[in-house]
Amino acid sequence: MSNPQTEQWQTLSRQHHLAPFTDYQALNRKGARIITKASGVYLWDSEGHKILDGMAGLWCVNVGYGREELVEAAAAQMRELPYYNLFFQTAHPPALELAQEIAQLAPEGLDHVFFTGSGSEANDTVLRMVRHYWATLGQPDKQVVIGRWNGYHGSTIAGASLGGMKGMHAQGGLPIPGIEHIDQPYWYGEGGDMTPEDFGVWAAEQLEKKILDVGEGRVAAFIAEPIQGAGGVIVPPDSYWPKVREILAKYDILFVADEVICGFGRTGEWFGSQYYDLKPDLMPIAKGLTSGYIPMGGVVVHERVVKVLDRGGEFAHGFTYSGHPVAAAVALANIRLLKREGIVTQVKTQTAPYLQQRWRELAEHPLVGEARGVGLVAAIELVKNKETRERYSGLEVGMRCREHCFANGLVMRAVGDTMIIAPPLVINKEEIDELIDKARTCLDLTVREVS
Ligand code: PLP
Repeated sequence: MSNPQTEQWQTLSRQHHLAPFTDYQALNRKGARIITKASGVYLWDSEGHKILDGMAGLWCVNVGYGREELVEAAAAQMRELPYYNLFFQTAHPPALELAQEIAQLAPEGLDHVFFTGSGSEANDTVLRMVRHYWATLGQPDKQVVIGRWNGYHGSTIAGASLGGMKGMHAQGGLPIPGIEHIDQPYWYGEGGDMTPEDFGVWAAEQLEKKILDVGEGRVAAFIAEPIQGAGGVIVPPDSYWPKVREILAKYDILFVADEVICGFGRTGEWFGSQYYDLKPDLMPIAKGLTSGYIPMGGVVVHERVVKVLDRGGEFAHGFTYSGHPVAAAVALANIRLLKREGIVTQVKTQTAPYLQQRWRELAEHPLVGEARGVGLVAAIELVKNKETRERYSGLEVGMRCREHCFANGLVMRAVGDTMIIAPPLVINKEEIDELIDKARTCLDLTVREVS
């Protein structure tokens, strides 16, 4: 270690910090990697290493690091009105202007926003809102929400219950009652001998099966990410969403498209719902809303839901930081920047086609069974045998590859033996080339270790 401060920070980490999603023993053995600054698509650690951030932080730094406009927007708002709440019939300009801006970008009819502090809080809000909606309509038995195994909707009790991460459910007795799960549309991992199209239809039909099992009159909503992110960038087969939409139309059930990752340009459209032509009733958002510069989330709600909520008396729900003025000002600056620089269009027409083309070249690597992706989000599957899709068992190939990436100046995330990326939306072609070259080097290093 060249910087004595690194060790001091690592000591603080051991002595005083409990990190999220972390195995504490493993962390304490190795010491935390300390990130000290960032610019554009790059991070620097406390040892001075420059790292290409292939994950945009946690899928959130859409406009890239170091955007002065967002800093200025926060500072100006702090001077003007650093805090006020939206409870009890008050409001402030940044939250209202932001709600209007989001409504203009969202699919038609999604014209109201309930603000939260995070994506998890957005999904807690969803659970309470959809139940309140049905109760207001005189159908209080419609309480069950259906999610998907391996979906991710956050870390609070409701978020983790709606999500289908079995490791999370195992800690703390989740899911809470009234939440059910169906299989995910993960063709490569679970499609067996089926064609992607047949598997997509099969996976969608699991929704109908579950609705009938639970009882039509008891299902309030179905929640799903347009592309499952944390589950390993599960891009559904083309047949999946049309079939799901058909089933949702047949039964009287609300559809919640969790846009926390897909929202604000990740797919090359403003929302994943536009990419797949979904017609959600509710859309949880967060992350790219502020490009991660400050915490903020929300639920975008369709007017047909709002009309019912209007009749429901007080919706007894809210957070101290719902629509926080500083966060709202940063979100507005972020959206204006995305618009002014044409970043979403640039993703759609320039960088996404280029990244997806170059990413698929990795499928030729001996370790890679499949390379897939949409927009600026992508995954590769690491396998022992490309023909049979057999994995390397017990070797933690994904974690090895992730470590090689860190050591070679690239952040790629491992979900089991699936490597995933979601770089800042401002990544350019040269930086994409660098990402692909580094990924290939790390795949070489990994395959050498395990074969
Ligand atoms: N929903 C999705 C699809 C997510 O990916 C995440 C976070 O990764 C969340 C919800 C939770 O958001 P937060 O971590 O802001 O609570």
